[in-house]
Amino acid sequence: MKGCSFITKEVPAYVGNYTKNRARYGKISEITVHHAAGIVSVDALGQLWQKKGRAGSSHYGVSGAQIGQYVSEDDIAWTNSNWSANCRAVTIEVSNSSGAPSWEVSDTSLQTLVKLVADIARRNGLFPLVVGKTLTYHSMYTATACPGPYLKSKLQWLCDEANKLANMPEDGTSLDKLTTLRIGPASAGDVLTLKQMAEDLSVPFAEADGLMTIGGMSAGDAVTFTQKADELGLPVQTAAEMYVVQAGFFEKEDNANAFYVELSKKGVESVVVSADGGFRVQCGAFTKKENAQALVQQLAAKGVKTVLKEV
Ligand SMILES: [Zn+2]
Repeated sequence: MKGCSFITKEVPAYVGNYTKNRARYGKISEITVHHAAGIVSVDALGQLWQKKGRAGSSHYGVSGAQIGQYVSEDDIAWTNSNWSANCRAVTIEVSNSSGAPSWEVSDTSLQTLVKLVADIARRNGLFPLVVGKTLTYHSMYTATACPGPYLKSKLQWLCDEANKLANMPEDGTSLDKLTTLRIGPASAGDVLTLKQMAEDLSVPFAEADGLMTIGGMSAGDAVTFTQKADELGLPVQTAAEMYVVQAGFFEKEDNANAFYVELSKKGVESVVVSADGGFRVQCGAFTKKENAQALVQQLAAKGVKTVLKEV
């Protein structure tokens, strides 16, 4: 199946629920976001599209950290209730985390969606993504509540986050393989130079006592930073990738501390870390992504929303 290389599972849709060979009708020029109008796994969604006579399908489904693919991007999924929009679109159904009327979506699903959208955009030349143009949603094409008020309110954020990943490397697995560099010790002037570069390239930057942690970033950006560090005569180390479970992020340390206290009242352990120009309240840091994901789920069960961050 033509498409994303880092899907969790392929569940081919019934052949009568989509149209073969998109090239006969047009080419991909947008990504359409839908909500599943239910809390569903990627398997359950796949089973729906496998039903003969369903007359509906989607290319992808997102549920938590999982991505299912049902229809090849070379074929036309029937998702948008509009033939020409279907011909142009790669479509994604996103599981909800709550029902009507708010139809919320979990933070984990949103993070997964960012990665998937960025990957589809990169492979199909859709950057920069623009809401309503290259990133579309179901209710643009028909009278429907889809994608629900919550997901709809997140579309601009989704667009911005995906656009930040525009130069992700070709291999698609990139986002799990971002490079983090530790550079320094450096003078205040050199810190400022590298901080400016990080801002220009939209790469996360943290510094303490002249020691900088820069990334996660693409391999290309890592080369740029390494060359600059060499030029300035600064030591460079490649840091092991870490997966941080972030419960909150604050500009002000007082607010981060207050949130830390709130979490501890719920019996959730956390630490406040200075990072990315602010203060992160994190519940754990892991070298294995699965362990971080497990903690995200445990905390979700306690009603604590967290996001997984690569640092
Ligand atoms: Zn829809």
